[in-house]
Amino acid sequence: MLAAALALAGCGGPTATAPASPGHLDVLTTTTLLASLASDVGHNRAVVTSLMPVGASPETYEPSPSDIVRAHDAGLIVENGAGLEAWLGPMLRSGATKTPLVDCSAGLQIVDANPHLWLDPQNARHYVAQIRDAMIAADPGGAPTYRANAAALDARLDALNARIVKAIATIPAANRNMIVFHNAWLYYNRRYGLRTLGAIEEVPGSEPSAGHMAQLIDAARAAHVRAIFAEPEYNANLVNAVARSADIPRVAMLYDDSVGTSPQTRDYISMLDTDTATIVAALK
Ligand SMILES: [Zn+2]
Repeated sequence: MLAAALALAGCGGPTATAPASPGHLDVLTTTTLLASLASDVGHNRAVVTSLMPVGASPETYEPSPSDIVRAHDAGLIVENGAGLEAWLGPMLRSGATKTPLVDCSAGLQIVDANPHLWLDPQNARHYVAQIRDAMIAADPGGAPTYRANAAALDARLDALNARIVKAIATIPAANRNMIVFHNAWLYYNRRYGLRTLGAIEEVPGSEPSAGHMAQLIDAARAAHVRAIFAEPEYNANLVNAVARSADIPRVAMLYDDSVGTSPQTRDYISMLDTDTATIVAALK
């Protein structure tokens, strides 16, 4: 199977990442947001790449043969866990890879089988500790670097948390209702006192039923929802239809499962600062 994957990958053009230089750790994360955190922890020591490209949906991702090769070649795989990467286990088994793997959400409380724990910066601090320890186990010589980098990132995440608390406090309590495209904001909303009134997509990647849409529109009308939050790869027709039917004046854009490409969204902390500013502007 691995040989077949290698052969396929060879035909597939520029796929595999450059190998890390000797003495350095080659880290493969599943998502771009995990890559953002892991890059900061591994700064000056580990080479970090993301399996999924910017903008890909982790819930519906289909790994390619070259992904198996990348997983096999990596010195460490970083996954979110909590059921996000259902495709990862079969993929790794098919490549019979021996690469160590760290589950970032292990030890955190998972609510409603929802995997989007990373959108709460306090959970991200737990991710950073998990990544730090896994990097040290895979590359003990880098321990001082990983510890120092992780401590610096932890302080920045703590500061991010304080900024979000302050920003959300400016939204009148009655306005703190969100209709989102998919249910990514559960942990963020629990942390900061917002309410997810509903999600357009009940199951990521599948069209919502007419009954679900009607329920959502009724709930939005009853709560006088001020904004609906879409995503860069959203279905514009669906979002605009809900906004029109429920008399919701604004459609705003949030980044949640992937970083973006602009300087404002291309790493974890910038992305959450930008998302928070978007939420405050839309609901204030
Ligand atoms: Zn998601």
